[in-house]
Amino acid sequence: MRILIIEDEQRMADLLQQGLEENRYAVDITCTGEEGEILAQSIPYDLIILDIILPGKDGIEVCRSLRKNMVGTPILMLTCKDALQDKVIGLDSGADDYMVKPFSFEELYARVRAILRREKSPTMSKIICGDLVMDTVTRQVFHGNKSIELSGKEYAILEYLMRHPDAVITRTVMEQHVWNMALDSSSNLVDVYIKKLRTKLDEDRHKSLIQTIRGVGYRLRAK
Ligand code: CA
Repeated sequence: MRILIIEDEQRMADLLQQGLEENRYAVDITCTGEEGEILAQSIPYDLIILDIILPGKDGIEVCRSLRKNMVGTPILMLTCKDALQDKVIGLDSGADDYMVKPFSFEELYARVRAILRREKSPTMSKIICGDLVMDTVTRQVFHGNKSIELSGKEYAILEYLMRHPDAVITRTVMEQHVWNMALDSSSNLVDVYIKKLRTKLDEDRHKSLIQTIRGVGYRLRAK
């Protein structure tokens, strides 16, 4: 899952990026609403964290114009005001949720999980695919009752596949949702990580859980 942070306070942006990356999300940061808007229209982010008070175009204006341009990416707004009116304006401009600064990071992560989950399976913190269970709160993965240790990127790739069971996911789509802008897109990292995942997931299986669609990408067998 890939998140865009639009926040002009460098320290806050850095803390958010660090915390979210520890939670296995790919993160891009921008400090202006104008650039944020361009990025949000060109990259299929899974979530945008948008500060209201920005130099130039503010968060409310960015949110309004993204929605006007049919960008439906979920938006979590950050505001230092807690006046009822600002929350109302924020939500009415098209945001999905808001957090009032100062906030606890634990609560922010929980809201991020809740928003991402709303997109697919509204009430489940666990994603289940055949005999594979992913707990998105504890970040653990189980095959039957056996726990599988995954690295950050392995987890992120598997999460994306499990959220789109049986769908063919191209390498480009995978790169866009699992890595941030630092990725050199000529690399074959997706293939490298899929290979690692297979070693961990395919023990005791006669058929690989992740199917290669030659020349296109990968598909997770749901059954
Ligand atoms: Ca700000």
